[in-house]
Amino acid sequence: MLLGLDGFPHRAISPGLTPRMWALAEAGGRAAEGGMTDLPSSTDPGFCSLLTGCYPTTHGVRTTSWRYARLPDWAGVETPRVPTIFDVGHLNESDTVGHDHGPESSAAQECYAATDRTVGELFDAMQDHWAETIVVIVSDHDMQARDASPPIDLMANGDGLWDLVIPDGGAALVHLRPGVDAREAGAALGRIDGIETWLVGDSAMLIAGARRGRIFKAPQYSSGGFHGAPATARTVALVGGGHPDVQRLAAALTRRRPHLADWAPTLAPILGADMAGTDGANLLA
Ligand SMILES: [Zn+2]
Repeated sequence: MLLGLDGFPHRAISPGLTPRMWALAEAGGRAAEGGMTDLPSSTDPGFCSLLTGCYPTTHGVRTTSWRYARLPDWAGVETPRVPTIFDVGHLNESDTVGHDHGPESSAAQECYAATDRTVGELFDAMQDHWAETIVVIVSDHDMQARDASPPIDLMANGDGLWDLVIPDGGAALVHLRPGVDAREAGAALGRIDGIETWLVGDSAMLIAGARRGRIFKAPQYSSGGFHGAPATARTVALVGGGHPDVQRLAAALTRRRPHLADWAPTLAPILGADMAGTDGANLLA
């Protein structure tokens, strides 16, 4: 059973707030520092990595911003271009409440507890098959609150190096003008106030990541929390259940922080399936 808790913070998994998931991980295991995803730490790139076992550079879904405007070709695809054998139980409320009220709000805390109760009901429903069950619970990204700084306006700081920017919360896809050197453009990005990091996304595209609390200028903003940045690239990563492989999985999580793309190639062989050519690694290998 593969569950994806949208926007659920790793730090919210605790004995008091999420007793069912905590107990699952106590009997099974958890990544102490949580799992990892890529930039933008955003819903669609993350879930596509989880399901395909590939990184965004391979599955092609680079941002969730296509939900608000049609993406130009340089910003990737809306549907992953590699196949999957998996489906995921997606619980979205933690993302919605985190966006609306902020991840540390009382509304969000109540939502985390309610999500735990729902997940607990699933555990109860599976008790007759617990001995043959592996439960993997992840989130696609964390959530953070904004600080009082103004949004980062990359188009006002382009110096002619880039001509288009697609914001995705605390990250942005940056399209380079023809002939521009990616290193030169990246260095220019790095000098802009509020930028923490940048990486090469494609031949003509860089991905900028903002410092904690900072957001990129966008047509509209959530009233509460947001994601996309390096600070929210941490995921929930729990395993449990009665299947004999659960303890091996739990031990693997103590040795290595799992990337979202590691789960498909880890779980496929247990199910007797072959998932060759993934970017992620089999955590049990
Ligand atoms: Zn999400």
